[in-house]
Amino acid sequence: MSNEPEVYYHREPETLGGNIIEIKTDTARVIFDCGTELEGAPDAPPPEVPGLFTAGEPVSAVFITHYHQDHAGFIDKIIPGVPVYMGKKAAAIMKAYNEAQGRDFPEGARICGFLKDGATVTVGDITVTPFLCDHSAADSYMLLAEAYGKRILYTGDFRSNGRKSFPALLSKLPRDIDLLIREGTLEGSARISKTERELEKDFLSEFLRREGKPVFVLSSSTNLDRLVTVYKAARKCGRIVLTDPVLSSVAEAAGGKIPRPGFPGVYAFTPTGNGRTYAVLKRFKSRLGKARIAEKPFVMFVRASMGEYLKKLSEKTSFEGGALVYSTWEGYEDEPQVKDFLDTCASLRLETVYIHTSGHADANAVKALIERTRPRQAQIVHTAPKDKKGDRK
Ligand SMILES: [Zn+2]
Ligand SMILES: [Zn+2]
Repeated sequence: MSNEPEVYYHREPETLGGNIIEIKTDTARVIFDCGTELEGAPDAPPPEVPGLFTAGEPVSAVFITHYHQDHAGFIDKIIPGVPVYMGKKAAAIMKAYNEAQGRDFPEGARICGFLKDGATVTVGDITVTPFLCDHSAADSYMLLAEAYGKRILYTGDFRSNGRKSFPALLSKLPRDIDLLIREGTLEGSARISKTERELEKDFLSEFLRREGKPVFVLSSSTNLDRLVTVYKAARKCGRIVLTDPVLSSVAEAAGGKIPRPGFPGVYAFTPTGNGRTYAVLKRFKSRLGKARIAEKPFVMFVRASMGEYLKKLSEKTSFEGGALVYSTWEGYEDEPQVKDFLDTCASLRLETVYIHTSGHADANAVKALIERTRPRQAQIVHTAPKDKKGDRK
């Protein structure tokens, strides 16, 4: 019997996302995350991993830290029969996000168990303990693997600048771990990220500065922290919040305190009249059409595909003096659809402003993590390419 669990990185660690990490002992093979590469071709096949995506002795289990594509994107390529674990709310959000866009929830996703903060799962001679952490995806986890008396902590994606207490998470993590596998998205950047609460103040002052003029927010449809931040700021100044069918469905799936149509001042709208989108919209009793939207001061969550809709809406109410708030990773600005959308917004006289903070670990977060866990060895994964260092998601 070997006395060390073996660790394999099925993706180069110097890859922006796309983590697929294997921990192997004599009796078990456990996979952490099965993501697509953010910078690869969109339909690129998964890498050859026998027993995970291709024929071979099936891996023992797959654990998915969160629902972002670069961690969960290949969930439907996992060979049948392999047990998959992820957060319960995360799975519900992923399902709602896919279905609202007319895509079936991945067929291959046979989620056999849900991760719960601190609840250990045993797979052969490996035990896996998830720790709930803060990230720009709800219900995200760090994963601790223990075997042969060794401890390996994989951070997934995390941050210390969200609404969840980072010190509370640190206090739960073990000390003196053998290997720390951590995300390095912001590696090399000295910038310390704003907190989500600071961002709320920035949004509020932007809303007040624009008086009653339209404000649009371009952000990820699964970034529910940002929805909460915008909602809190909007409530303080009497703006209604408008969410499209995708964001409305995702917020509904998250449940709890996440603002969604039916909450005071939150309404669904649809950017297109096509049958599927309208069918999703109809589930929400609190919804507004263009004419009603134009009557009130509002903040509307938009996506880069909504340029044509904004043109039509601008015929109902002037956008002069309004703003488009860019509230997502700056790297997306280079994508042709986003560029076109920003051009459309400018032609409609919206001023683009930037209010965003990262979902990833800044230098302070990394330092505190290392001080707490005192790793004997460390491996950085999930690093941004050199020309695109900055905030992601
Ligand atoms: Zn990621
Ligand atoms: Zn992520």
